[in-house]
Amino acid sequence: MKEESSRVFLRRFRERPSSSLLFLDFDGTLSVISTSPEGATLHPAARRQLERLASIYRVCIVSGRPAKEVSALLKAEGISCFIGLHGLERLEEGVYCALRGADAFQGTMAEARGQITERTRRLRGVTVEDKGLIIAVHYRGCPEAAQQAEKAAALLAEEKGLVLHRGRMVLELRPPLPFGKGAAVEDSLRRKGAERALYAGDDLTDVDAFRSLHRMEEEIEGFSGLAVAVVSSESPRELLEECDLAVPGVDGVIDLLSRL
Ligand SMILES: [Mg+2]
Repeated sequence: MKEESSRVFLRRFRERPSSSLLFLDFDGTLSVISTSPEGATLHPAARRQLERLASIYRVCIVSGRPAKEVSALLKAEGISCFIGLHGLERLEEGVYCALRGADAFQGTMAEARGQITERTRRLRGVTVEDKGLIIAVHYRGCPEAAQQAEKAAALLAEEKGLVLHRGRMVLELRPPLPFGKGAAVEDSLRRKGAERALYAGDDLTDVDAFRSLHRMEEEIEGFSGLAVAVVSSESPRELLEECDLAVPGVDGVIDLLSRL
């Protein structure tokens, strides 16, 4: 952990707000993860902090949820950039756009949704979530069914030519396109010409963004990134290995945000 350099980073981040960009994951970072995706609870201080920060910095929420859904859940004034479905879609200044080529998979995803629902029907506690261009299979309600759920999802992915992704108590069927939180964050940073970016997240998909920040530090002179791991008992090993700073849970994030 680079304690010293994190402090220097945060000081410089505050000093030059117009070239500092803040990226925040939603579930497990700003809201406490619950047994069902509908049950996510935004931290009581999160909205106030985010509205304050949005008046100073550019703030972008980066989530695995659909962009419109996370925007509606957050309801924070001044935040106008939502990267959804891990970078597969974006809602910026009220304008929605999907990644190039993604729309061609609408039909395949609809078929996959019906089939995975059917094939996991007997697994009590396993739920299928329709996210549009991504189908999520949650087994937080029944961790014992993880193996069976994974087997069903892997088989279907193979049949449909989709990609199977594993997250925290969730499996996702995704279109076979090159996308991720890392590429989406990098795209935003290059378009905005930011000098400094802080990214906070709690899951494997966030590690992808951590790596993008570190790669950009090497490639772009004067650019600096801070990868913040939001730590819980379920934290994947890579999150801790790749971060620059670790904070304890959602409370730790809010505490960090209050210092910006
Ligand atoms: Mg998360």
